[in-house]
Amino acid sequence: MRLKLIGNIAMASALLIGGVFTVSNEKVNAEKPTAGTEAYQHVYNLTESIGPRVAGSENESKAGDYIYRELEKLGYQPTKQSFSYTRNRVTVNSANIIGTKLSHSNKYKSDKQIIVGAHYDSVSVGKGADDNASSVGVILETAKALQKKELHYDIKFVFFGAEEQGLRGSNYYVSQMTQEEKNNTIAMINLDSLLAGDNIYVYGSPGEDGWIRDLALNIANKKKIPLQTNPGINPDYPEGTTGDWSDHAPFQKAGIPIGYLEATNWEIGDLDGYTQTVKHGGIWHTKNDNLEFLEEQFPGRVQEHLHDFTVVLTDLLQDIKKVK
Ligand SMILES: [Zn+2]
Repeated sequence: MRLKLIGNIAMASALLIGGVFTVSNEKVNAEKPTAGTEAYQHVYNLTESIGPRVAGSENESKAGDYIYRELEKLGYQPTKQSFSYTRNRVTVNSANIIGTKLSHSNKYKSDKQIIVGAHYDSVSVGKGADDNASSVGVILETAKALQKKELHYDIKFVFFGAEEQGLRGSNYYVSQMTQEEKNNTIAMINLDSLLAGDNIYVYGSPGEDGWIRDLALNIANKKKIPLQTNPGINPDYPEGTTGDWSDHAPFQKAGIPIGYLEATNWEIGDLDGYTQTVKHGGIWHTKNDNLEFLEEQFPGRVQEHLHDFTVVLTDLLQDIKKVK
């Protein structure tokens, strides 16, 4: 909030004096667009133009196509990994959408990769803005920012289908990885539910494999972004870690170090990170999970979180140099 306020005051002063000092105006105009702006547009498109995206539904498929097209626009050559499963005796068809960013670098030529993932399906209640259009938006904006950058590793951006019906997309993705690919994956970074929660968090694997979390905390600290980790008040979820309820879980089980970005509040409710806000409790999986409610009830939070997570993820992917 503090940073945002300073920005607004600076902008207001520039506008006030703009008529007299044209230099100030030019300076303001030359400023780069705020991180999170494009992510917001993606959240809007996924939730207001498409709507709820239940696994196997036409809307889930529309959202998958939307992501595919956006990746194409960015110059990636996306692929669609279709899968199906049976639920209540009904066959459900879903798909993961994958965009690959090659390191494009002679300096750092590497056969290692990082997987960055988020689910794009939602439950039927609400519009799935927090859970999880928010993460799709942040990843697409990050994919754009990194498009022409030289990176130390290849990055696979994976958008999972059917998370809400038992982590189907991420389980399928891991089941299709060869042992060689698993060995070459130095990290999996999962994003889930970034908008509603009172605080912004990063979690990591227990022990030495928790290095992604530590790197993200360092980056945030330098940028004065209030990213924190699970304080570990609840002994079931030790400090710095989290539960196995999202798409990072199959990767962690496969022995791949994980990082995980989320907004929630670990200091209220059952101290398990499920109660996202003091003001309205949990937002995910309720009718309140839409942009209108979030922006009305938590002024500034949506933009602030999209900004902060986009900055952290973009810097993190450029800074990761550790070899497994
Ligand atoms: Zn989710």
